[in-house]
Amino acid sequence: MSRIFNFSAGPSTLPLPVLERVRDEMVEYQGSGLSLIEASHRGPEYSKVHETAGVLMRELLGLPANYKVLFLQGGATLQFGMIPLNLLGGGKPCDFTVTGTWAKKALADAKKIGKPRVIYDGAAESFMTLPDPATLKVDPAAVYLHLTSNETIGGVQWQGWPDAGAVPIVCDMSSDFLSRSFPVEKFGLIYAGAQKNLGPAGMAVVIIRDDLLEKCSDDLPAYLSYKVHAAEDSLYNTPPVFPIWVSALVLEHVKAHGGLAGAEKLATRRSQMLYDMIAKHAGFYRCPVAAHCRSKMNVVWRLPSEELEGQFIKEAKAAGMSGLKGHRSVGGCRASIYNAMPVEGVQALTDFMDVFARAHG
Ligand SMILES: *Cc1c(COP(=O)(O)O)cnc(C)c1O
Repeated sequence: MSRIFNFSAGPSTLPLPVLERVRDEMVEYQGSGLSLIEASHRGPEYSKVHETAGVLMRELLGLPANYKVLFLQGGATLQFGMIPLNLLGGGKPCDFTVTGTWAKKALADAKKIGKPRVIYDGAAESFMTLPDPATLKVDPAAVYLHLTSNETIGGVQWQGWPDAGAVPIVCDMSSDFLSRSFPVEKFGLIYAGAQKNLGPAGMAVVIIRDDLLEKCSDDLPAYLSYKVHAAEDSLYNTPPVFPIWVSALVLEHVKAHGGLAGAEKLATRRSQMLYDMIAKHAGFYRCPVAAHCRSKMNVVWRLPSEELEGQFIKEAKAAGMSGLKGHRSVGGCRASIYNAMPVEGVQALTDFMDVFARAHG
């Protein structure tokens, strides 16, 4: 077996011990005579996995009792629509920060249902910076304030949280979920697509506070209703059993490695290694993101020409490092260094960057 270092933005690298365990248990799950993905989602084997995923999620995030954890299909993208459908029906107002590609997508869907007001728009700075959270003026009448904690494509990440007063924060944490701790009580709803830091694609986690849940619409088709999913503990219909199973194993893995504090420490170390290497060859490598909001999950940088960028990506691939091409909308290079990326992977990449800069700088 020869596994490369996979710097892809998503789906992305998963912890090797988790993959190995899934392999070992895939065909016959723990002496049950069948695979877990063939078993009833109401049977004893799956029920235990489902419960474990929820319990570990609560434990790792330190969720108070007044939050529900939901495991839903449709990825984070369905949440762009589901959140306004549940909370903004009839054209209710909310406040939005537009910080990059993903926030723009969330805003586009919110506009179809509610009346979002943009209180920060990073377009003029090409989304390469974030505002000081203390400068955001939140409308007290807003149903919520929407944030994107980490812009996966632009490589900007909020380092602090605004004080929204009594207005709950709704946050897309898809690409930095489980990589750092945060003050849960500021948030009314947190959502994350699984395939960056949690597990396989095909699922989103939604964490919703009871007071917000009570405000949700009663008139939605069943699958679109948070109330329906919360009342049935994400078992209203067949849940995404495979992503939930793998996610439960990932959560166990995160717990065994120091929880969110452990993950945060490693994220700081990995990202610092990359930003230091970019700084070491300033003039050759250049990070376009403002220093105060550089992401610890998605590190972006440019080379002096697109031609050199192409060569860098190609030679890195040949050296066993894939997924380093920046998103097609912005170009350049990007290393996605989620929880499961070993420090050795980043070491290999920074060594390669050093040699490449010396050869071409
Ligand atoms: C990947 C990503 C999404 C989209 O997730 P899907 O599961 O593909 O719908 C949304 N927001 C952010 C911040 C992302 O990184």
